[in-house]
Amino acid sequence: MAASGPPVSAVATSLRRRAFGSLRVIPTHSHRKQILFAMAASSSSSSEAAPMGPADGIRRDRILSSKLYFDVPPSKVPVIYSSSYDIAFFGIEKLHPFDSSKWGRICQFLIKEGFLDKKQTVEPLEASKDDLLVVHSESYLSSLKSSLNVAIIIEVPPVALLPNCLVQNKVLYPFRKQVGGSILAAKLAKERGWAINIGGGFHHCSAEKGGGFCAYADISLCIQFAFVLLNISRLMIIDLDAHQGNGHEIDFSNDRRVYILDMYNAGIYPFDFEAKRYIDQKVELASGTKTKEYLDKLDEALEVARNNFNPELVVYNAGTDILDGDPLGRLKISPDGVTTRDEKVFRFARERNIPLLMLTSGGYMKSSARVIADSIINLSKKNLIALDSPLGRNCSSPDGVLRLPRQKSGSGPCSPRGGHGGSLPTCPPSASRPNFGDAYLRIRSDAAYFDINYVIVVHPVVFLTLLCQPTSLTVFLTLLCQPTSLTVFLHFVRDEPLVALGRTR
Ligand SMILES: [Zn+2]
Repeated sequence: MAASGPPVSAVATSLRRRAFGSLRVIPTHSHRKQILFAMAASSSSSSEAAPMGPADGIRRDRILSSKLYFDVPPSKVPVIYSSSYDIAFFGIEKLHPFDSSKWGRICQFLIKEGFLDKKQTVEPLEASKDDLLVVHSESYLSSLKSSLNVAIIIEVPPVALLPNCLVQNKVLYPFRKQVGGSILAAKLAKERGWAINIGGGFHHCSAEKGGGFCAYADISLCIQFAFVLLNISRLMIIDLDAHQGNGHEIDFSNDRRVYILDMYNAGIYPFDFEAKRYIDQKVELASGTKTKEYLDKLDEALEVARNNFNPELVVYNAGTDILDGDPLGRLKISPDGVTTRDEKVFRFARERNIPLLMLTSGGYMKSSARVIADSIINLSKKNLIALDSPLGRNCSSPDGVLRLPRQKSGSGPCSPRGGHGGSLPTCPPSASRPNFGDAYLRIRSDAAYFDINYVIVVHPVVFLTLLCQPTSLTVFLTLLCQPTSLTVFLHFVRDEPLVALGRTR
C-alpha cells in the first residue's frame, strides 16, 4: 500500500496544501516575508516538521536503509561524477538535439586543463528501486518499463521502438546514477560547505510524472534524504534553469520547510500553472532577455531571498539552457553571464555560511559543457570552491594556503583568453560537424506556426526498422505529432543529409 500510495493521505494533503498554499501565494513580499520569517524561526529542527503518517515512516525506513550516503575520504573533492552518466548507444543518442555526453565532457575539460584530478572525484552509487520509492510511487516506476513512456518523457521518439532492457541499461541507468549523485551531493555539501554533481537537476519530474528529459525526481529525493539523514529542516531551492521547475514545485507544494526561488522564461515549456502556485519567489523572464537585465534581476531576487528565508542548505539548479542560442531556453545570456550567475549564487551561500550543492540540469548545446567547466574554474579561482583536496593537492605551498593546480600549458584543446575572471580558457565553435540546431523548419498547423529550432536525425538502422514494421511506424509518427518533435530530418550518412522535409535556413 505504502509503495503505491501517496506520501500522505489524500485528505491531509489537500487540507495542508490549501492551508500553506494560501500562505505561499500571497502577492506582497512584505507580508510573505513576515510569514516566512516566522516559519523559519519556528522550525529550528526537523522535529518541527509535520506529524509523521504511516507512509512517512516507510519513507524514513527506506532512507535509513539506503546505501547512497557513504563516507567519502578527505582525499577526494566534493565533485561527483561517474562515466556512467553519459548516454551513448549505437549512435542513437545522436537522434536527440541534446549533447548526451555533456557530463563527461565537463570533466574532461577540467581534468585535461589540470583543474581536477579524476582520482579525486567521487563516484556515486546507482539509486535503487527502494531509494526511488522514497518519492516515486510503484506505479510510476512501473510505467518506465514501457519504452514508449520513456520515449515520451525524454522526447526521443525512436526510443519507443527499443526493447525495454536496452532502455533501462542505456538511458535509465545513467539517470539513476545521476540521481545517486544528487542525493550524495547534499551530504558532501553539509560536510565540506559545497558540492557539485556534474549531472542531475531533473526538475520537471515529480513523484508521479516525468517529462522534459526528466525521468526521476532527483531534487525531491535529495531533499527528502537531507531531511532525514542530515537533520535539516529549512532548505532553499534556487532554480535558475531556463525552464520552470515544476517537478519539485509539485512535490513540495505543501511543505513549508522548502523555499523555492525560481527564475525562468515564462514563454516556454512547461506552462505548469498549478506548479507556479507553489513557487515562493517567482521571477518570470521574457524570451530574448539579455545578460545585464538577467543578472540585475538575479541580484534583486537573491536580496529578497536573503531577507525572506534562512536555509540550512541550498540546492542550486544551474541549468545552462539560459545561454544565447539555446533552442529550448530562448534567452540571450552570454557564457560570461553564466559564470557570473554561478558566482553570485555561490557568494550568496558563502556569505551566510550555508552549504550549497549545485546540479548542472538543462542546457545541452555542444557549447554547454565548455561553459560549465569555465564556470567551475572561475569558482575555483575566486576561492569559492577548492578543487584540490587537502591530501591530494599537487601545488600546496609551504604556508599551507590552498592553491589551485597550475594549468597545464597546451594540455587541453583550448587556449587561454582574456575576459571574465581573467584568463578562462575557451574553445572555438566546433566546425567538425554541422550544427543541426541551426536547422529551422516552420510547419503550418491549423492554429499557428510552430518554430522548430532543432531536428530529429534518423539513424539508418532505425529507419529500416520503421519501414519494415508498420506498427512501429505508426508509433513513431504519433510521437512526431508532439509540438516539440514535429520535424523529421532524414540523415542516412553522417554529415550528409539526403532528404530534408520542409524548409531550412
Ligand atoms: Zn531547462
